[in-house]
Amino acid sequence: MRINRIAASLSLILALSATCALAQVQRPRLIVGIVVDQMRWDYLYQYYDKWGEGGFKRLMGEGYSCGNTIIDYVPTVTACGHASIYTGSTPALHGIAGNDYMIDGKPTSSVKDTTVVGVGTTGKAGNQSPRNLLVTTMGDQLKLATSGLARVVGVSLKDRAAILPAGHGADGAYWYDNDTHQFITSTYYTRELPKWVKDFNKSNKKLMSKTDVWRDKAGVTVTFGLAQAALKAEHLGGDFVPDLLAVSISTTDAAAHKFGAMSAEMEPIYLQLDKELTAFFKFLDKEVGKGNYLLFLTADHGGTYSEPHMKSNKMPSGRFFDSKLRTETNEKLRRRFGVDNLIQTQMEYTFYLNNDLIVRRNLDREAVKAEAVRIMSESPEVMWAVDAERVNESSLPQDIRERIIKGYHHKRSGEIFVLPITGYYASWEGDERGSNHGSWNQSDSHIPLLFYGWHVPHGEKTTLTHMTDIAATVCAMLHIQAPDACLGQPIKFD
Ligand SMILES: [Zn+2]
Repeated sequence: MRINRIAASLSLILALSATCALAQVQRPRLIVGIVVDQMRWDYLYQYYDKWGEGGFKRLMGEGYSCGNTIIDYVPTVTACGHASIYTGSTPALHGIAGNDYMIDGKPTSSVKDTTVVGVGTTGKAGNQSPRNLLVTTMGDQLKLATSGLARVVGVSLKDRAAILPAGHGADGAYWYDNDTHQFITSTYYTRELPKWVKDFNKSNKKLMSKTDVWRDKAGVTVTFGLAQAALKAEHLGGDFVPDLLAVSISTTDAAAHKFGAMSAEMEPIYLQLDKELTAFFKFLDKEVGKGNYLLFLTADHGGTYSEPHMKSNKMPSGRFFDSKLRTETNEKLRRRFGVDNLIQTQMEYTFYLNNDLIVRRNLDREAVKAEAVRIMSESPEVMWAVDAERVNESSLPQDIRERIIKGYHHKRSGEIFVLPITGYYASWEGDERGSNHGSWNQSDSHIPLLFYGWHVPHGEKTTLTHMTDIAATVCAMLHIQAPDACLGQPIKFD
């Protein structure tokens, strides 16, 4: 009798656990995010005839393409892009207001953190962490949803492109150090460089010290190499708790800044990227299993064609020199208010008032700002200069107004945002060929967005989607809460 009761309870337990297993939330084993720095959306088609079968064509032919994905804020730069992709938010809320910006009146770079030091280097390249990011990322939400069991790793040549996607709770983020020619991390994550990173550095030492990984296709190869090493060593995708691997390719950006968008030098880099993607997808199929991983590929921003390229095609274009505009504006403000340097600094399209000086000299801040906006608006390269605190009072089209508002962090951004004449872009003397980005226009803000793998049907849509929808979509598919400041909406694959 007693034995029967035990058997009955055992079978009840088994039945219950079977029900639980069936009722378990279905999730992929791994989420892979790939960001291609400065990849314009139209590159998918410009190089289409030259792609092999297993890389971009596999994503386009089997995955889902959101062909009209727009960055819904300015400035369209690397740090803002990586933060926004993984938080579903914008600089106004996540606080990454540029590659560089001000905190408490002092300039800082996006991920600079002097409370931590480098691991694998003694140089300044190691003083980095995600502390300036004010909100959670999709990796953070995954951690919260799995009691910390999900593993999250970010890799890139650029510090900010490894750190911001990996988020606050990351198990690791690794980036390239120009001094030691190797991948490093910081004490935010660990006290010692993991053995697998040391091994990777050792076996790629020659390549990384002899080649300019920033502007040579070898940079693409080493980044995917490190991503594969991370997946194996950290057992990403190894069990039923979903993990996140965030990969960002920086060479595409650094090379385009030097050689220009669509220049002859860019083609071998993109064709190498296609080859590396082919190998990486095969690797994921083998290690994680086809259908077991959810992957997305996008860009942190696009890029303009250079002025010589546009002019040789009789197209409107020109270069905008931000420091020249600041100097000229300061001179005119000095004549009016009797004080020099009232614009403290600028970071391409955003200009900071010298608020301390304004207070010290007892000036009317609103009057100084209004005069600066008026002066800048008269510059021949400028279409609009806008008081970022009063954007809705300007005559800008609504869509652009909204992008300025979403990109303006009121404690960290400059008070004046400048929009050059369309086709004009921020540049500097001696840089004729290089492309740039940062503005609202299609070149800079129209990015590729492809989903592939777990629960992703084949298809394409051309209705409007936003960069901020990426995190919302991934989190909705995983049935986890979207990051706290997420503004995006889940994309429907229809
Ligand atoms: Zn760039």
